[in-house]
Amino acid sequence: MTQRALEIAGRVEAFVRDVVVPYERDPRIEIHGHGPPEELVAELRALARAAGVLTPHILPDGSHLSQRETAIVLRASGLSPLGPVAVNTMAPDEGNMFLLGKVGTPEQKTRFLKPLVSGEARSAFFMTEPAAENGAGSDPSMMQTTCHPDGNHWVINGRKAFITGVQGAKVGIVMARSDDGACMFLVDLPDPAIRIERVLDTIDSSMPGGHAVVVIENLRVPADQMLGQSGEGFKYAQIRLSPARLSHCMRWWGAARRAHEIASDYACRRQAFGKLLIDHEGVGFMLAENLIDLKQAELMIDWCADVLDGGSTGTTESSMAKVAVSEALMRVADRCVQVMGGTGVSGDTIVEQVFREIRAFRIYDGPTEVHKWSLAKRIKRDSHFLP
Ligand SMILES: Cc1cc2nc3c(=O)[nH]c(=O)nc-3n(C[C@H](O)[C@H](O)[C@H](O)COP(=O)(O)OP(=O)(O)OC[C@H]3O[C@@H](n4cnc5c(N)ncnc54)[C@H](O)[C@@H]3O)c2cc1C
Repeated sequence: MTQRALEIAGRVEAFVRDVVVPYERDPRIEIHGHGPPEELVAELRALARAAGVLTPHILPDGSHLSQRETAIVLRASGLSPLGPVAVNTMAPDEGNMFLLGKVGTPEQKTRFLKPLVSGEARSAFFMTEPAAENGAGSDPSMMQTTCHPDGNHWVINGRKAFITGVQGAKVGIVMARSDDGACMFLVDLPDPAIRIERVLDTIDSSMPGGHAVVVIENLRVPADQMLGQSGEGFKYAQIRLSPARLSHCMRWWGAARRAHEIASDYACRRQAFGKLLIDHEGVGFMLAENLIDLKQAELMIDWCADVLDGGSTGTTESSMAKVAVSEALMRVADRCVQVMGGTGVSGDTIVEQVFREIRAFRIYDGPTEVHKWSLAKRIKRDSHFLP
């Protein structure tokens, strides 16, 4: 590991543990609300800016840390559910910044990327559509939102669902279908043509703005705000997808690690039937299995990061990593809850939140079954009948 990444990760970890963790009990956070309020986000980011840990994975010259380096920094940022929000490594902004950095024109970068990197603006990514209308979900090719050219503008119409952070975001990346295929557009938010119908009540609660159902009605976007070329939208989604998927693994690994620390501390203090919980084999084994799952997940992340750093799109590897890591972290979070008894399901520690967040993580950026299905398709494609 490089010295610079170790140094950045060390500073991020210290900031999250010393400054961010005390905010977990901030009364402005509603346990089952729609994410931390904007005022709190701004306050945390001001502290991160002052500590020199804001957007730590992007260097002052605009270049990114390698994926392998990013892994240790983002794992450190994830040690609190508020950490990624505070230091600006959170979803969907981190993935959106990555995509804009790869595909945006210099003008688009100045206008849309700069305020994201500086932590002054948040962004949203509009792909999924309402299931009740049979729109894009696990299968993005079912996209119903349309765009058509009109002079030097494009006009977009459709409905989107589960749009994380759109409430309060200043930048949007909207996906729609033209006669050429999928397209991506950069838009300023809020816009009267993009109406938030409702913010969903979901199991998770770490992402500012929550997740919304949105109606897009005759949204006019100047042609120079198309990201890349008409019809290439799914290609760009692929550029975003593998690293974004992996960065979820990195952040939630940090959260699961912290939950494990809390559960271990509980087990090493709490007594039952005349001895500490840790000395009961059933509890000790659960915590031992946590360590094994965490290490395996860490190695999967690092392996996939190396693949991406080697220049591959890492589609297969990121599918494998996403399944392995999200399922392993779910087991870790569940054991942490169990080890802590009633306290584990209460809001007294972040353990119950980590459990809820990781449950949702098994669905977004590709549900486990979809990744397994695409891996199975690859197995069939590559199969050679044995002699
Ligand atoms: C917390 C959260 C945040 C999100 N944020 C965003 C966002 O910011 N922007 C955005 O565009 N979207 C976002 N999403 C949407 C997310 O990407 C979709 O939920 C996901 O793609 C699944 O689509 P769906 O919900 O329509 O499920 P469906 O497509 O209805 O699938 C339901 C289930 O069917 C099964 N399934 C589907 N296909 C297969 C298959 N081939 N083989 C086996 N089983 C299969 C899986 O078990 C899957 O969970 C978010 C979702 C959540 C939960």
